[in-house]
Amino acid sequence: MTTPHDQLPVFRSRLFDGQVALITGGGTGIGFGIAQLLAELGATVIIASRNQTHLEPAIEQLRAAGGKADSLILDVRDSDGVKAAIRSVADRLGRIDVLVNNAAGNFYVPSESMSANAWRSVIEIDLSGTFFCSQAVMPIMRDHGGGRIVNISMTLHYRGWPLMAHATAAKAGIDAVTRTLALEWARHGIRVNAVAPGPVPTEGVKKAFSAPPDAVPDVFSVERAMEDYARRSIPLARMGSPRDIANMVAFLASPAGDWITGSIMVVDGGEWLQKGPH
Ligand code: NAP
Repeated sequence: MTTPHDQLPVFRSRLFDGQVALITGGGTGIGFGIAQLLAELGATVIIASRNQTHLEPAIEQLRAAGGKADSLILDVRDSDGVKAAIRSVADRLGRIDVLVNNAAGNFYVPSESMSANAWRSVIEIDLSGTFFCSQAVMPIMRDHGGGRIVNISMTLHYRGWPLMAHATAAKAGIDAVTRTLALEWARHGIRVNAVAPGPVPTEGVKKAFSAPPDAVPDVFSVERAMEDYARRSIPLARMGSPRDIANMVAFLASPAGDWITGSIMVVDGGEWLQKGPH
């Protein structure tokens, strides 16, 4: 989903010229939106995830738009694999200036029936993955005089969110890691911040809005449900777009963010403030 605002050029062109940005989960959804914006602004973007079938078409699209882009196969849960993969990027390109920890694996499940595997899997992808990638990129940034890490969080843990015990726990952990790494690594010139998006209708989110499987198929029902939700629950009365989130990532990664570290920026049209208790 794009909005009319998505077309407006907000940042000066070539803002990230000569820089390398690594985006986990950069082949789909919000991560791809971040990759598109950073590539438009001159960065060489490396999009990293497990699945080449996500990455290949994304790379083609980024390059067709004139971007410098490459892919990296990596599972953020595997700390040794992450170290080797991220080191290979630095060896090839000489630097990594920006890391966006965006990869996640969230799904709805009642806590009483959540398997240990489901719990572990989300904690490992969202929280451990963010930590492992940050740890792997740290010496590269430090030896290069600094860098910027932006973690993608959420707002659902501010009040609690039914069926999302694993993801809310993981994202609360990401907020804690953001603040702690900001304190530990500021002396190396590494700024660590987070962006907390409200609802952005990526494929994963659309599934959550889908009609039950036995309902009469209606191709517009998901869109209607989302519009209805936005009217009722979002003060700015629309769902977010990947560009809304990407704009905040670019801001934090740019010199405009030079005195910002350990911050968690909510980008949600005011949704979480308005939400009543369940
Ligand atoms: P998405 O399209 O489902 O993207 C998730 C990405 O993570 C995929 O590209 C996936 O690629 C990658 N990934 C999953 N497991 C991985 C692993 N073990 N190692 C490496 N990569 C892995 O999700 P999205 O909706 O764009 O969300 C992006 C981020 O925004 C997430 O952190 C999410 O929690 C956050 N967020 C989203 C919303 C929203 O409304 N969409 C709201 C709040 C926060 P592979 O399958 O190829 O590995």
